Amino acid sequence: MVGSALACALGSNSATSSLRVLVLDREGPTEVTSPSSNVPDLRVSTVTPASVQLLQSVGAWEHIAPPRSAAFQHMQVWDEGGNGYVRYSAAQVGRDNMGYVAENRVLQTALMRRLKDLKNITLLWPASLEALTLPSYALEAHEGPGTNSLAELRLAHGQTCKARLVVGADGARSRTRQLADLRTFSWSYHQRGIVATVRTQQPNDTAWQRFLHTGPLALLPVRDGYSNIVWSTSLQQASALEKASPHEFALAVNEALRGGFPPARNPLLPMRSAEEFAAPPAVFAVEETQQRSFPLACAGAGRYVRPRLALVGDAAHVVHPLAGQGVNLGFGDVRTLADALTHAVETGRDVGELGLLEDMYEQPRQRENGIMMVALDSLKRVFAPQSGVLASFRGLGLDIINGTPALKSSIMKYAMG
Ligand SMILES: Cc1cc2nc3c(=O)[nH]c(=O)nc-3n(C[C@H](O)[C@H](O)[C@H](O)COP(=O)(O)OP(=O)(O)OC[C@H]3O[C@@H](n4cnc5c(N)ncnc54)[C@H](O)[C@@H]3O)c2cc1C
Repeated sequence: MVGSALACALGSNSATSSLRVLVLDREGPTEVTSPSSNVPDLRVSTVTPASVQLLQSVGAWEHIAPPRSAAFQHMQVWDEGGNGYVRYSAAQVGRDNMGYVAENRVLQTALMRRLKDLKNITLLWPASLEALTLPSYALEAHEGPGTNSLAELRLAHGQTCKARLVVGADGARSRTRQLADLRTFSWSYHQRGIVATVRTQQPNDTAWQRFLHTGPLALLPVRDGYSNIVWSTSLQQASALEKASPHEFALAVNEALRGGFPPARNPLLPMRSAEEFAAPPAVFAVEETQQRSFPLACAGAGRYVRPRLALVGDAAHVVHPLAGQGVNLGFGDVRTLADALTHAVETGRDVGELGLLEDMYEQPRQRENGIMMVALDSLKRVFAPQSGVLASFRGLGLDIINGTPALKSSIMKYAMG
């Protein structure tokens, strides 16, 4: 998704449309000809308003907008281990909605349709990257900015190509990052994220998230009255939930989302502006689908760039899905890198020059992504204990956010990009 968005951005801008761009993928795209006639796919992404702007600017949004995706107007977060909750509404920040939920295959198909229209883009698949030769830092220092040596790629079936800039957008287990010898830091949450498609009792216009003692459980509206579950939980529970029938799974979701006591307003905080807690809808199984699970980790590359190389998206950073920010951070990389390359073309600089990539891409994005990674990891840890002082303060913290409009709006605006 992120690599295609970057290629679309380069092809849609008059300055960078002079660059010749080759898009390689080891798999062909999953074409969705008529998404509204099928049950939605299990893999979905929340798309923030900032990402919508990017997708609009590259001409892909018209193929993603509702009815192919669903907008959500509210977000409600609450805690199994306490009384606190926060309910956000788009109207509080003067917006129609807080974002959209789109199937990954709808995003991929929309970007691919757009790529096929762009004159400076060549698509090649199946094409798996096997070897990569990059100029060394020493050579760049010796020859000056934008060394004459190009990057060389060798593909699985022996084909080779040269490039002024290679962008590694090949996901969390990036071969490009590995071949470029860029080190990563990572830790596993020793959890898996179960994803499933369900139906809800009432139409759903809210992104619901309950923090359970095992991890967060989210219920997100998708299209045509369906909703999507992202349930982060222990390896043991994930294995059992994955084997459950869709009906058994729906029962487990209802118990986890609606069981126990609903939060009540804290009597010590009589804030009139606080929105009332809303009960989440009951979910029903969709028999044609079977839930799947994915490992959850936090990871980041220490460097995003080398001479003639840049990493974007999950190749550069992987976050916990609890706030649905993963692909949105990747789209943020796309905006910044596309701006840097536009600047290079307009000022006659080499697009693969290390100094340009460091100053105009790596530094701003490492700062931005780093803040989000720390915030999400802290959130994950703060919500882990179910009793004791931290659990009590957490409930109080949620109540204070819920009853403080200025604080609530700032958090919402930040999360919406
Ligand atoms: C359970 C779960 C729920 C999530 N929910 C959300 C959400 O709600 N919102 C959100 O923003 N994010 C979410 N994410 C994260 C999001 O899915 C990722 O951030 C996003 O897919 C990353 O996109 P990408 O394009 O960087 O990488 P990928 O989507 O992994 O794409 C990588 C591409 O590179 C290709 N490739 C890989 N290796 C090679 C090679 N050697 N040669 C050639 N091609 C190669 C692959 O075929 C693929 O097309 C979730 C993640 C999980 C696990």
